[in-house]
Amino acid sequence: MKRMLLVISCIFLIAGCDKKIDVEIVDNFEDVKVELRDQEVEINNDLLNTAGIVNVEHGEVLTEEVNVDTSKLGEQEVTIVVKNERDEEKEFSYKVNVIDTTKPVISAKDKITTTEGTKVNLTKNVTVKDNSKEKLEVKVEGKYDLNKVGTYKLQYVVKDSSGNEATKDFTLVVKEKVVEEKKEVTTSEKKTTTTPKTTTTSGYNPNGTPSSFNGTKTSKGYIIVVKNGITYIDGIMIANKTYSLPKSYNPGGLTSVTKSAINEMLAAAKKDGLSLYIASGYRSFATQNNLWQKRAKNYGKAFADSGTARGGYSEHQTGLAADICGEGKGCISSDYHNSKGAKWMAANAYKYGLILRYPKGKDGITGYKYESWHFRYVGKDLAKKLYNGGNWITLEEHFGITSKYAE
Ligand SMILES: [Zn+2]
Repeated sequence: MKRMLLVISCIFLIAGCDKKIDVEIVDNFEDVKVELRDQEVEINNDLLNTAGIVNVEHGEVLTEEVNVDTSKLGEQEVTIVVKNERDEEKEFSYKVNVIDTTKPVISAKDKITTTEGTKVNLTKNVTVKDNSKEKLEVKVEGKYDLNKVGTYKLQYVVKDSSGNEATKDFTLVVKEKVVEEKKEVTTSEKKTTTTPKTTTTSGYNPNGTPSSFNGTKTSKGYIIVVKNGITYIDGIMIANKTYSLPKSYNPGGLTSVTKSAINEMLAAAKKDGLSLYIASGYRSFATQNNLWQKRAKNYGKAFADSGTARGGYSEHQTGLAADICGEGKGCISSDYHNSKGAKWMAANAYKYGLILRYPKGKDGITGYKYESWHFRYVGKDLAKKLYNGGNWITLEEHFGITSKYAE
């Protein structure tokens, strides 16, 4: 109706038409009702520039619909143009506040395993996603020591610039370093292998294997490494009647690698319906020595040697060996090998990196009678090799070493 009047008035008042319309625009524009509402949007989320328009009456929005730039935090003004019924345009604006209330998302492994003394970048494989698209720093919270064997409960923490914090728990397992580097020996340095004279008449040598053995070769050509009285061959710690451990060697219990291998194995046994347990794990030099000394004093050296390792010569001191029992009448007995438990162990232990250390018929080689309960951790590769399809090879045979007390 008003438009009609304007057109009619222009026709009649041609000369002064423009000016008259000017006046009329202002007056008439007030008839357009534009209701807007300020908006709040998460950073980098989509928001149309028309989102703030609640209602427009007696007018038409001319602004083309486009996305508001939401890539930066903070307030901005969004302007829309509305025309009235007389085709006159006017700008209106409202506020858009870009905010960030969304936590970053951390993707990382639940468990990191390393060996003691190895430098590890704990955040290397952690990825962080955040709606802010900022480059965020990942921090590790909690106490740990890469030089100390242990299981550490830690947490990744990431915070964006708006203070939204995300955390993710993870476990760091620092394992004992088992593998020693082979010592390179040049031809001129090669020594011949002899049995070290390490045993004293008192039944033990507090210093372990003498350092003179370091760098010598076994009959199979392996280099013997002696470090602080401890013997390693191809990275495997050796404790038998020839190569002893020093009084000072004390891993403080079964090593964490051994413990977890045994636990995994016992869990598998449980699944097969067998209830097995560790009857004896780590034994200290002192415990073993006291045991032997007592027997030697009461019954003589020969009797003591027949059933008990001398101090420093027991594999239990390595923290890598354990007596596994269960599912049989008694254990640590010559009948135990017929038990369900001993049979399961003989068939499955190698899968977890453990070997039957003193197999049947190898007394002359290992220096020990058949012990169907005594298992030693050597790692899965070597264990599989020594398992040999059930026809066990001993560590002594594999490396070409003896197991004999010097006196
Ligand atoms: Zn044992």
